[in-house]
Amino acid sequence: MGSLGPDIEGIRAPGAHRLWPAFALALASVVGCVSPPERSRVVVVGMDGLEYSALHRYARTLPNLSALLEAGAHAEVEVTSPIMSPILWTTIASGYPAEVHGIGGWTNGRGKSFTGADVQVERVWDALTEQGRSSVLAGWLMTWPAPIIDGQALSDRFVWAYPMSRRTDQPAVDEQLKVTTFPDSLGPIAAGLLPDAAWLAASPLGYQVAEYGAPSHPLRRDELHVRVFERLWPETDADFGCVYVNGADQVSHAYWPFQDPETQRVIRQDPTAHKRAVDGLLRRHPTRAMPPWGEKGLTGDELGEAGRWVPDYYKYLDSVLGRIQAVVDDDTTLIVVSDHGFKVSGSQPLIGGQHRGTAVFAAVGGRTKPGATAKMHVYDVAPTLYALLGVPAGADMPGHARDDLFDLGFVAPVPTRTLERGAIEVGEGESAGDAALRDQLEALGYLDEEGRPNAAIGESRSKTIVVAPEGSPPATTP
Ligand SMILES: [Zn+2]
Repeated sequence: MGSLGPDIEGIRAPGAHRLWPAFALALASVVGCVSPPERSRVVVVGMDGLEYSALHRYARTLPNLSALLEAGAHAEVEVTSPIMSPILWTTIASGYPAEVHGIGGWTNGRGKSFTGADVQVERVWDALTEQGRSSVLAGWLMTWPAPIIDGQALSDRFVWAYPMSRRTDQPAVDEQLKVTTFPDSLGPIAAGLLPDAAWLAASPLGYQVAEYGAPSHPLRRDELHVRVFERLWPETDADFGCVYVNGADQVSHAYWPFQDPETQRVIRQDPTAHKRAVDGLLRRHPTRAMPPWGEKGLTGDELGEAGRWVPDYYKYLDSVLGRIQAVVDDDTTLIVVSDHGFKVSGSQPLIGGQHRGTAVFAAVGGRTKPGATAKMHVYDVAPTLYALLGVPAGADMPGHARDDLFDLGFVAPVPTRTLERGAIEVGEGESAGDAALRDQLEALGYLDEEGRPNAAIGESRSKTIVVAPEGSPPATTP
């Protein structure tokens, strides 16, 4: 059930999979289906933390994203709680909740970070691989170790195996570095696409990179993922592509309030309000990193400077969408999705942003119904992807395919797409990826010094789902 066993090899003769749409079409006409289960190619652009209110507020500076919302279909997505990116991106790609897919957050509460090896269900690319159909993955969360798929995969940890100081022409020698791509031959190609310090400095976001330091600022990683997708997609006949970019989330955690009209009003009216809030926060949480403008306190005079961080990153994301559209044809269904939105922090309104439980889903091209709008649940994303691709979803997935947003044929489900891999040993000790992840999460204030989720910034991240061993009921702890 659901396993990627050798029994599927027989149907993987080169080119054989290209025959099946015609066969399915013929079969459908025989049995009289109105809408044959013909498949389309699908590209998903995952933009972590993308928030509708910012798309509307900055619409004039976001031509591609605005046109997507206007010309395509879109939905407000209700997401599950706790609102944590690793959980939600795994749900988006699989259709299952955390208790089933096995990813309970960034770390398992005992200091070990979750990885792709902990995922207990098939994701879209696994199901396609079973059918001999290929995918291109660029940086999707929880894809390290890089999955063995039909197609090519750049794992989310690739970028951390290449510190800024490492020459990109040096071959990867460490075992950890080898599993950051599939196949291995993608490694040197991706390394050659890493943006260098000069490119980062010259970017419109160069001022942010200079402030953060290049390895911690999301631009280097996001740009790599986009470049890898731009390189691979035009030369593949893959049915599914996905690219993940993280920057809206990272920048919004620290800078969201400064572009919020209500926070701006408070700071303009009371020049010491921000400084008092920072001092209070640091008294309660002495290990917390100093927030931006925290030393002196932010006043109305600096709001222009502080308030441009988030909209400037959105401008970059808009250009990313334009670049991806440039390599994706109109017959392909192109989807932009986020895992959650953003809002001013409830507990630290002048200092931080926090995740909001409404995410963005927008689509254009392919089988999109132009102008359709709806509300949907994050559980609906994967079944919809399966339907668009003409692949059976799992009957035990809680969501359903959205035929109000897309023209979908009927594909009979399989009973489940869960895997029996509870006993997988993912190894002891800390990899280079673990250390880099921890540094990055700490820099953002996600983790305290002991590696525990930091409750001080963003209530939504203070909960960790503990994934129970197989056979026992799943538990959620506060
Ligand atoms: Zn997120």
